[in-house]
Amino acid sequence: MRLSKEIGIDLGTANILIYVKGEGIVVNEPSVVTINTETNRPIAVGAEARDMLGKTPGRFQAIRPLKDGVIADFQITEILITHFINKLNLKGVFSRPTILICCPSNITSIEKSAIEDVAKRCGAKRVFIEEEPKVAAVGAGLDISKPSGNMVIDIGGGTTDIAVLSLGDIVTSTSLNVAGDTLDAEIIKYVKDKYKLLIGDRTAEEIKKTIGCAYQGDEKQVMEVRGRNLVTGLPDTIELNAKETEIAFSECCQSILHATKHVLEQTPPELSADIVNRGIFLTGGGALLHNLDKFLQEGLSVPVFVAENALDCVAEGCGIMLENTQYLK
Ligand code: ADP
Ligand code: MG
Repeated sequence: MRLSKEIGIDLGTANILIYVKGEGIVVNEPSVVTINTETNRPIAVGAEARDMLGKTPGRFQAIRPLKDGVIADFQITEILITHFINKLNLKGVFSRPTILICCPSNITSIEKSAIEDVAKRCGAKRVFIEEEPKVAAVGAGLDISKPSGNMVIDIGGGTTDIAVLSLGDIVTSTSLNVAGDTLDAEIIKYVKDKYKLLIGDRTAEEIKKTIGCAYQGDEKQVMEVRGRNLVTGLPDTIELNAKETEIAFSECCQSILHATKHVLEQTPPELSADIVNRGIFLTGGGALLHNLDKFLQEGLSVPVFVAENALDCVAEGCGIMLENTQYLK
């Protein structure tokens, strides 16, 4: 008989994942809500709402409330969290759950306490709010409790968080809003400038995931891309190759490289020595961009590894933290 549930939530800018202790990841959906702007009521949440992005008629609006790593719309964020927590059917369990929530790192303390209130309204007894890079590091399998340096770069949809951790906490870190969404935007811009073809966000993301490349892009790796020709106004198809995506992404990749260098420069030398030995770990969906690890490794002269299950690291990290309560403060 289970007395109370322990739940971890990765409240990401692109995806929301929920981990239930003893069960694993039970929710993995896009952080999107579609509302009817006339009634202000949600009509779809998660994957269903994501499929409506860019395709809604006037009175419906598909919204990503956390898009840029800040809570653009708190009400919508609340709908998102509440919808998925309520689906877990917590009402029937004997005592109220403990909830651990990981938020994008640059949200304000006011937003943090507002999120805490939402979790409490959903029935939580205790709420812990954690910083995403820390949980990502734990989820990537790093032991951050020792007095030694570990470095993670978590590349999500709206933000990239770079952090050096030791003794269970963040020593140096930075957050930039160059991440997965920016890469999509760069593809859109590149295709528009070079081919006079207008493509949507979903198409851009698909290109990124299929042939997107940060380094040593192969010209022979191609993909057909459909959109609207800006000159004729008609639907049109072009062929794009991986080398072109590398060109489109180059500025973004340089930004991530520079920010990482900056964090390393501020890191105490003993910890730097550990990082050189162990390498840097990439987590989040952006870590899956082809050859991004190679690009960073080349620029930093430090080994760079992509974490296993990069997209699930934060949710898995929540799970590990719930099992080992010494992590929770
Ligand atoms: P967040 O934590 O902000 O919710 P995620 O860690 O879930 O973000 O990562 C989502 C981002 O990862 C999106 O921008 C998505 O396009 C990107 N992504 C997912 N898979 C890949 C892939 N194979 N290659 C490149 N980017 C990817
Ligand atoms: Mg994330």
